Amino acid sequence: MLFLFFLLIFKDGVDSMQLDMVKLIEENIDDTIDPCDDFYRHACRKDQSRGSTFFYVIQRSFWKEMNDLMRSGKNEDLFRKIEKLENLISSLKSDSFDDTSAVRFEYMEKCINNKTRAREMLLELNKLIYNNENGDCCFTNIDFDTNCERSATNLVNGLKEHLVNGLEMEARENWKNFLGYLNNFKAYLWLQANNDLVIRSREMFTMLRDDFMESVEQTPWLINSDSVKAVIEISNQLKLVDTELVIDFNQNQVDASIQEYNDCHLFTSETARKYCYATIKVPETDENWNSINAFNFHPYLSLNNPFIAILSSNSTPAIEYGSVGYVLGHEFGHTLIKTKSDHMFIPYFSEQVKTCVQNQFNKSCSFFKEGLCHTGDYQFDENGADIFGGQLVYEAFKKRHSCSVNKSIRGYEYCWTPAKLFFYSMAAVDCHREDSVSWMDDPHHAPKIRVNAVLAQIPDFAEVFQCDAKSNMMQSRSVSFIC
Ligand SMILES: [Zn+2]
Repeated sequence: MLFLFFLLIFKDGVDSMQLDMVKLIEENIDDTIDPCDDFYRHACRKDQSRGSTFFYVIQRSFWKEMNDLMRSGKNEDLFRKIEKLENLISSLKSDSFDDTSAVRFEYMEKCINNKTRAREMLLELNKLIYNNENGDCCFTNIDFDTNCERSATNLVNGLKEHLVNGLEMEARENWKNFLGYLNNFKAYLWLQANNDLVIRSREMFTMLRDDFMESVEQTPWLINSDSVKAVIEISNQLKLVDTELVIDFNQNQVDASIQEYNDCHLFTSETARKYCYATIKVPETDENWNSINAFNFHPYLSLNNPFIAILSSNSTPAIEYGSVGYVLGHEFGHTLIKTKSDHMFIPYFSEQVKTCVQNQFNKSCSFFKEGLCHTGDYQFDENGADIFGGQLVYEAFKKRHSCSVNKSIRGYEYCWTPAKLFFYSMAAVDCHREDSVSWMDDPHHAPKIRVNAVLAQIPDFAEVFQCDAKSNMMQSRSVSFIC
């Protein structure tokens, strides 16, 4: 019986991350810092080892799980093909096009030992580089030279002149993109196999939007300014899509690309094969859509992996709301919170709210900065979305889990309640070891300031951690609390 139980758990491990997320959060806690003095650095220790931050561990685990899924079941054949290609591309990456000694060596060897093979190599390069099939031009002239040393030099010079400049960079770009493309394709297959998690992420978004609608209908200044309908309308336009599912992947396209690489094998010369691999282009996809964790491109809102993977059965609602929910809330905020110059959207927030948001970030800067800390107008959209998302998701969490927020969770080193876990997961997704500083070309504020500013605007935070009025987290609250 015990054996059967075991089987049931491990039979279908592909749909749940085998990670203890509470433990992951515990590992990053710095006990020497009081949560009321600096929550971010308490929850996100600076001396954690490289690659051990919450998000990166989850990301790594997700990729591993995805590869495991590919190796099993109906995708096995396809995965083998993909894996072979990935290995090939990875091995190509170490090749250098500037170093032509390999070309010289290959040609010399053929020229001395087997004239037919040497001619074949030249014909292949002609075909590849000059698109010339019949061998009546270009490198073929070299073939008439009986001095192998000299003809090898002529070949190398010819290649350098026509190809080497710029090819290496192009090849590296192509290979990097191709590996990214294959990863996205695997993520696409993973999502298809884990459709229940995709559905849950959509449900979570719909729930946040419904909660927001309810609050809109009770907001006096929106009622008085007759804006309720407009705000509800624009919120209703939003669709949560998954990036990989949006990309028009199809098996034929992937097969065709794999075939292109396979066709390169037909070249008998190693040099020709290398040039062949170098010029293969990645199938067209919208690059911007693959590399961002989450975005709002109204009316599309997207949540990328591995956020969706956090919604696996090994997580808890507190962690799901604090991480995935917070990101969704933030992205939702982008539809409503815009500087007035952006006429595409309705600025939901009043001027007072804008001032309050910016004041909060300014104040958090003065309390928690670790280097350059700057709150500018160019950051308002992100700062506003942070505070909006944080408050929206905390209220949603409390509303649905009100009877359990203060119940203790057993089996861990720390004394956890869901409410505490919620706040720690907010800090965990934005946890970095490096000094938290603002960049003039990045509209997002410094991660530490983002987290501490948002928490300062959630009244329950002080209660959950029993922070007294003199603590930094309380002192750093903007006066016009709540935004
Ligand atoms: Zn944003």
